[in-house]
Amino acid sequence: MKNFSDIEKAAKYIQEGKLVAFPTETVYGLGGNALNPLAVAKIFELKERPSFDPLIMHIASIAQLEKLVLSTDERIYKLAEKFWPGPLTMVLPKSNIVPDIVTSGLPTAGIRMPGNEIALELIRISDCPIAAPSANKFGRISPTTAAHVKKQLPNVDYIIDGGKTTVGLESTIINLTDFGFQILRNGIITKEELETILPFDGNSEIQKLSAPGMLKSHYSPGKMFLIAHNNNLKIDKLKAGLISFSGELENGYRKIIRVSDRKDLKDYAVNMFEAMHAFEDDNDIEIIIAEPVIDRGIGKAIMDRLRKAEFNWRPGMFQ
Ligand code: AMP
Ligand code: MG
Repeated sequence: MKNFSDIEKAAKYIQEGKLVAFPTETVYGLGGNALNPLAVAKIFELKERPSFDPLIMHIASIAQLEKLVLSTDERIYKLAEKFWPGPLTMVLPKSNIVPDIVTSGLPTAGIRMPGNEIALELIRISDCPIAAPSANKFGRISPTTAAHVKKQLPNVDYIIDGGKTTVGLESTIINLTDFGFQILRNGIITKEELETILPFDGNSEIQKLSAPGMLKSHYSPGKMFLIAHNNNLKIDKLKAGLISFSGELENGYRKIIRVSDRKDLKDYAVNMFEAMHAFEDDNDIEIIIAEPVIDRGIGKAIMDRLRKAEFNWRPGMFQ
């Protein structure tokens, strides 16, 4: 999958201020030079992303981190050692070299080192941090393959095809506090894993304030999407596609995509967005139904995405 000349070409585009879609372990990112405000502006424009929603910067070394942040808090290094490269974003006080457009004017920046060799190589050769939100139109389903990117952003300057992403869910985002950390977005790295390094300090009011892009609706397919919360779903199953996890709800649906053969939540995370895309593209399907999972650990991150995908469709369905 890893084709070096592709990465070199893509890096040249990044250096020229163009945009490149590339794989990370979470989802495909729409990347531009984070230190070039014009490139960053193009990201917002192509995604149709509101300017109040800050971008995460992707780095390939700790030396790069140190240029982008003011803090030398030793906890950053502990977390980086355990979780980087990997799906953890830290929100930290930013240095002056980070353009305001990247952080939507906030004094902090979201930073992570992705656990994907193509992404790391691209950042290294480009020789700059890469600002990269998910490579989809704002609010729509995140891409886990190059084809998903092409579907939503056909005009992107370049796409590196690195196959299907291995995690499938966006990174866990945390904010360090005096006493520990707060989770701004749930991901595959859970609160419990983070607590092996730092105590949890979850104040949900502060979480909402400091994660400006955390809207109630997100990851939304272009057709009706509902979580199969209970049995009073009044839908025509013959027009519905089921995203199935346990196998227990599979009766009567027009089509079924089973996201795991072994009832493993990691498989749900990896396959969830792909299943949404498949049903979105399927003319036989008018309604997408997703099986809920336990709201704990990785399940919390999955339920967060499902609730946001459902948000616009839910009102009016039930009394
Ligand atoms: P994504 O859309 O996956 O690129 O994730 C970007 C999200 O990261 C934003 O919607 C914010 O919620 C969060 N984020 C990025 N930078 C910051 C920051 N400086 N402070 C708080 N949250 C941030
Ligand atoms: Mg996104």
